[in-house]
Amino acid sequence: MKVLILGGGITGVTIAKKMGEGTILEKEKAGGFLRSYKLNGFTFDTGGHLFHFKKKENRILFERLMGENSLKLRRKSFVYIMGKMVPYPFQANFYPLSQRVKMECLRDFLNVAHGEKKRAKNFREWLLGTFGEAMCRYFFFPYNRKFWGIDLEKITSEWAKWAIPKPSVEEVIRGARGNTVEGLGYNPSFYYPENGGAYSFFKKYSEGVEIIEGVEINIIETDEKKVNTNKGRFQYDVLFSTIPLVEFTKLIREKDDVIKLASALLIANSVTVFNIGFEGKIPECHWIYFPEEKFPFFRLGFYSNFSEKMAPEGFHSLYLEFSGSERKEAELTEALDMLNSEGIIKGKMVLYQKIFIPHAYPIPTREAELIKDGLSSFFKKRQVYIAGRSGSWEYLSTEASMESGTRAVESFKA
Ligand SMILES: Cc1cc2nc3c(=O)[nH]c(=O)nc-3n(C[C@H](O)[C@H](O)[C@H](O)COP(=O)(O)OP(=O)(O)OC[C@H]3O[C@@H](n4cnc5c(N)ncnc54)[C@H](O)[C@@H]3O)c2cc1C
Repeated sequence: MKVLILGGGITGVTIAKKMGEGTILEKEKAGGFLRSYKLNGFTFDTGGHLFHFKKKENRILFERLMGENSLKLRRKSFVYIMGKMVPYPFQANFYPLSQRVKMECLRDFLNVAHGEKKRAKNFREWLLGTFGEAMCRYFFFPYNRKFWGIDLEKITSEWAKWAIPKPSVEEVIRGARGNTVEGLGYNPSFYYPENGGAYSFFKKYSEGVEIIEGVEINIIETDEKKVNTNKGRFQYDVLFSTIPLVEFTKLIREKDDVIKLASALLIANSVTVFNIGFEGKIPECHWIYFPEEKFPFFRLGFYSNFSEKMAPEGFHSLYLEFSGSERKEAELTEALDMLNSEGIIKGKMVLYQKIFIPHAYPIPTREAELIKDGLSSFFKKRQVYIAGRSGSWEYLSTEASMESGTRAVESFKA
């Protein structure tokens, strides 16, 4: 049986491993979002990539593959707001803010916590009904508008339940009194390779899997079960796709209505990651969120605080992320000036690398759900399976992408 897999990221590799066979066609270099880059002694990832696992077997797998090259870290991250560093998550730790803001946040949170529960129709309603008006006004609305780049009414809320920590009433009160609440959310502690960045896990994980790199797909003939590429024509019995769903549907020759609609209705935010070699002083934390509009970026992170091996001695390795259109060097320089004048970092950039990710976070909308339902019956009839974050157009972590690859194989075998 000929098994063909599109996309050589962690999901494509998981599928090949679970199938026990298969050829992967990869457009660039294997690794997908887990690619890391070495530049003049600095190591960078594709934005901060930490490994957190819900399933014990995945954690054990990571530990076994990484051996000595594994660090276990306790998350130390902040939200920079009103000139203060609020420990993450904001909703449980807003004590550094003024008395007035704290009281407003607490009052509105208690109102919704004790009020009548209504079913949220969208992400905006979910935020308001979960955290109350003041926390939304100060933090959740500006941050999420900047991050997603669309009206929050257009976004669904189911995903938010795993992604956004919801503290209990006791935790919010404890946090408001000044006792930092730790351990909330999906990544209170995480693993990170000591050497080589996130790619070093991918490298070990993908050993023995056949990946053809540098493949340009011209057209996919789902009726004939053929994929035409710059490296020849590949015939298959079963096709798994982990490439962005929006691109995959454009490559399919058969133009069913749902296929035509997919490219218009599947939307994602784009992210520009600037990886920065830095000389000077950086804060002792892993990353900082920036909700306020005056900061055009949404997150600043410190690879060399994950592992000091990520930068040459005496230097640091940073990442700064912008959502929306592709950014230019001038915007990076301006952003670093702002961060220096706020006193968050002190020093200068010695080099940088830019990575533009057109489909960084697939946006969960009702239209996307409808399209995916329509596509699933189209695919089922044609022995096509989709999986992974970009492939199935879902906001998934690395582990969740691996699990999605496993599920695709299970549904093929069922
Ligand atoms: C900025 C950012 C930060 C993240 N941080 C974390 C984190 O800290 N922790 C965490 O658990 N998860 C994180 N994630 C999510 C994690 O990276 C993904 O869930 C996971 O890597 C997805 O793997 P994948 O194989 O499904 O997709 P991808 O990694 O996107 O792989 C798809 C592959 O398909 C290839 N491809 C694309 N088009 C074509 C084509 N036409 N033909 C052939 N190949 C093609 C791509 O080059 C790529 O290699 C982050 C994601 C982003 C974007």
